[in-house]
Amino acid sequence: MANYVFPPHLFAALHIAGSDQLFPVRRVYCVGRNYAGHAREMGSDPDREPPFFFCKPGDAAAVVPVAPGTVAELPYPPQTSNYHYECELVVAIGKGGSDIPVEDAHQHIFGYAVGLDMTRRDLQGKMKDAGRPWEIGKAFDYSAPVGQLRRASEVPGVESAGIALALDGAVRQSSSTDHMIWSVAETIAKLSTLFRLEPGDLIFTGTPEGVGAVERGQSLTGSIDGLDSLSVKFV
Ligand code: MN
Repeated sequence: MANYVFPPHLFAALHIAGSDQLFPVRRVYCVGRNYAGHAREMGSDPDREPPFFFCKPGDAAAVVPVAPGTVAELPYPPQTSNYHYECELVVAIGKGGSDIPVEDAHQHIFGYAVGLDMTRRDLQGKMKDAGRPWEIGKAFDYSAPVGQLRRASEVPGVESAGIALALDGAVRQSSSTDHMIWSVAETIAKLSTLFRLEPGDLIFTGTPEGVGAVERGQSLTGSIDGLDSLSVKFV
């Protein structure tokens, strides 16, 4: 055992459906504006501007229990008055690689989960206007809640599945994962030209239209057909 001056930080580990094993998280990559409807609601033209990547720290991943009826409580973050939800399909990488060809991309996928790319939209907007990095809007504590992982072999239809988010029970986002501009395979291929992917990496693949604010005390339920939904309340 190395002589650390304090215990090394352990990142989140996701529960795997039907297993007592855990999936340890390394990095959290995110795709921006990967659904045309969301790109438009954010004021950009998806026909002219392709999607892009940004990152959250691995310890921003917040594991959400998925026992039926469970609503996980997470802290409402400081310094925002416009705290937005973005429901997303999360891809969990099980095999590393660089310059992964599109046709090989699925061999690198361990499984999938529902995630929320939580965003301090007011802070993100200020940084966008100033041409500055997005971290204070995107990469804060608990900004990436993730539900239970399903192994890829269990959910063959997850890349053309209904994706929805409800705020206090009212549906606010409703689309299909096959409306992504970059498919999951294309996303893995492009991302792996920029960073070597490793087991434990998560990729948030973008959100459909309908994003909006959640207030303190309200609950969000994110769902994707075939995956375990997740419910969180920010307190
Ligand atoms: Mn997003």
